[in-house]
Amino acid sequence: MSEMALRAEIVAVAQAIDKAGFCPSKSGNVSARFEGGLLITPSGLPYAQTKPEDLIHLSQDGTILSGARKPSSEWPFHVEIYKARPDAQAIVHTHSPRATALSSARRGIPAFHYMIALCGGADVRCAEYATFGTPELALNAVKALEGRKAVLLANHGVIALGQTLAGAHTIVAEVENLAGQYLDLLASGLEPAILDEAEMARVSAKFAGYGKVG
Ligand code: 13P
Ligand code: ZN
Repeated sequence: MSEMALRAEIVAVAQAIDKAGFCPSKSGNVSARFEGGLLITPSGLPYAQTKPEDLIHLSQDGTILSGARKPSSEWPFHVEIYKARPDAQAIVHTHSPRATALSSARRGIPAFHYMIALCGGADVRCAEYATFGTPELALNAVKALEGRKAVLLANHGVIALGQTLAGAHTIVAEVENLAGQYLDLLASGLEPAILDEAEMARVSAKFAGYGKVG
């Protein structure tokens, strides 16, 4: 993919998560690997005004290589995730409402539904709290992402990673859907029935041959 096409796709995903209501008060950010580093959305710029040329090119250690704007304040976790996860080609971060509500109870999402397997395993963990934009938050996110493609950030939001931008986008939307269903289930007072590891392994194996997401 050309640099221009990649920049345009990052902006398109950022505008789509915003339209979906996943980025209140211009929260969230999007990046993709590019030339040994990454392209990332600028900090605080409303997505409707963001253009492909506003993205910032960072090296793999977070040094600014090009771009006139400030990179997302969350560049440390984007950089650390790419370092730790060779499978990640793209990262989408949101404050989508229902997943953020669940994260504020510092609870992850168990396998109450088989679609949890889309997120890489038998659950979506909730990373330990740290202040936004800090190296500590980056470390907590990487740790809770082990073997997974999505994580809740305590009292904050969601991160999803994918082999493509479309894959990361799909996962971040599914996390919002699952978090909402899980919250509804808890609120109903009914006891969630959790699928066991063997069933989740079967589902993951079926997903492997089902189509390419994430
Ligand atoms: P940026 O606008 O700096 O990307 O910050 C948004 C955010 O979600 C911080 O966690
Ligand atoms: Zn955030």
